[in-house]
Amino acid sequence: MAVWNPWHGCHRYSEGCKHCYIHKGDAKRKVNTENIIRTDNFYAPTARTKKGEYKIKSGQFVNLGFSTDFLLEDADQWRSECWQMIKERNDLTFLFLTKRITRFMECIPSDWDAGYDNVIVGCTIENQANADKRLAVLQSLPIKHKLIICQPLLEEIDLERYLENIELVVVGGESDKYARPLDYSWVLSIREQCLRRNVSFEFRQCGTHFIKDTKHYILQVKDLRSQAKKADINWQAAKQ
Ligand code: SF4
Repeated sequence: MAVWNPWHGCHRYSEGCKHCYIHKGDAKRKVNTENIIRTDNFYAPTARTKKGEYKIKSGQFVNLGFSTDFLLEDADQWRSECWQMIKERNDLTFLFLTKRITRFMECIPSDWDAGYDNVIVGCTIENQANADKRLAVLQSLPIKHKLIICQPLLEEIDLERYLENIELVVVGGESDKYARPLDYSWVLSIREQCLRRNVSFEFRQCGTHFIKDTKHYILQVKDLRSQAKKADINWQAAKQ
């Protein structure tokens, strides 16, 4: 798995951004996250070795823009070059997550048509209001591979009507000393909706403040993922 961050930085956009890990990491390094800068890795997908081979080997999965939002307005000037590289590297699979899904149609290349086969788009939501706003848009978009990321999940969400053609729903809590709590019943509710609509489901991480059966647990960052795994509730949809 490779990581490609063509630029760095982001602006808080909605409730889910409150404890953004990029802002927190940057604050420790005294970097201003609001300053959007192109990175030295901008051309990573097409970078070659001295022998002329691609540095990122064929067949890899590439996490794109994990230190930003790929659809950020400030990066509009740079994105078309990224699309060209994504097209050239059709031997790789690129995944990006975004809260700015409403900008999608103004951010795609002219030859996008029904979508590139090698691009997976994850729409991030945190509450019912943003689910209704963003997932209704996601449903209408020409994207070959769609995911829904409910992280940090801040309340119970009814998203069943938005699950058509969704390949995976991921749920996770917030990680921070002042994190908002994650109630396990909200996680199970989304899982049930996925089961009913035959959509794969993954419980990726607990929250620092985790509520189960009305009991409040405070978890260490290092345990968030392993505790979610222990719940053993991930589910793979049957192929249609
Ligand atoms: S959109 Fe994502 S990267 Fe940008 S501030 Fe919000 S959580 Fe952070």
